[in-house]
Amino acid sequence: MTNRLVCFDLDNTLIDRDGAFRSWARWWTDRAGFGADAYEWLVAHDNGGYRPRAELFAGFEQRFGVRISVDEYDRDHPTFTWVDDAVLAGLASLRAAGWRLAVVTNGAVVQQTGKLTHTGIADAVDYCCISEAVGVRKPDPRIFAIAAEGAGASLAGGWMVGDHPAYDTAGGKAAGLTTVQVGNHHPAPPADHHVSTVVEAFALIH
Ligand SMILES: [Mg+2]
Repeated sequence: MTNRLVCFDLDNTLIDRDGAFRSWARWWTDRAGFGADAYEWLVAHDNGGYRPRAELFAGFEQRFGVRISVDEYDRDHPTFTWVDDAVLAGLASLRAAGWRLAVVTNGAVVQQTGKLTHTGIADAVDYCCISEAVGVRKPDPRIFAIAAEGAGASLAGGWMVGDHPAYDTAGGKAAGLTTVQVGNHHPAPPADHHVSTVVEAFALIH
């Protein structure tokens, strides 16, 4: 019998990426001697991490006169991430039930690896598929095939859990996976299931 696969998005699915960004922005602006206006500017222009960091920090420099280093950000921001115990417990229970688990995340290797190792999620799954490392991004269904191979599983009967309809849900559907949309960050989820938090998704997977 071939192993079945569950794929998870990382940012704002397994971890509260936006919460970690706010913690980083508070820390950075406090350390640099800026006030609430600089913190609020960063949070307002972050766009859930989808705005390129070079563009975000160039805008910050225009407004506040100081350049934030992208390299330093890539090292510092992951240290502000955390994962709920219930999420690690859910991953462990799926694995104990025989599922193979993969994280499938769009992003850069340094930043995503930092978050996966800092939170311990890297050790809680069978494979981490980072778009920059494999040269394919969600929603391209090929990234899910790469994740299946890396996790030693088949796509048949597999699941994809994520917060983004265009990347996670549409991509997962294109790969033939049953999809679970987490949260209300984006409108009109066309997923097979819709839950408020990833913890609720664990109970759905069968
Ligand atoms: Mg996400």
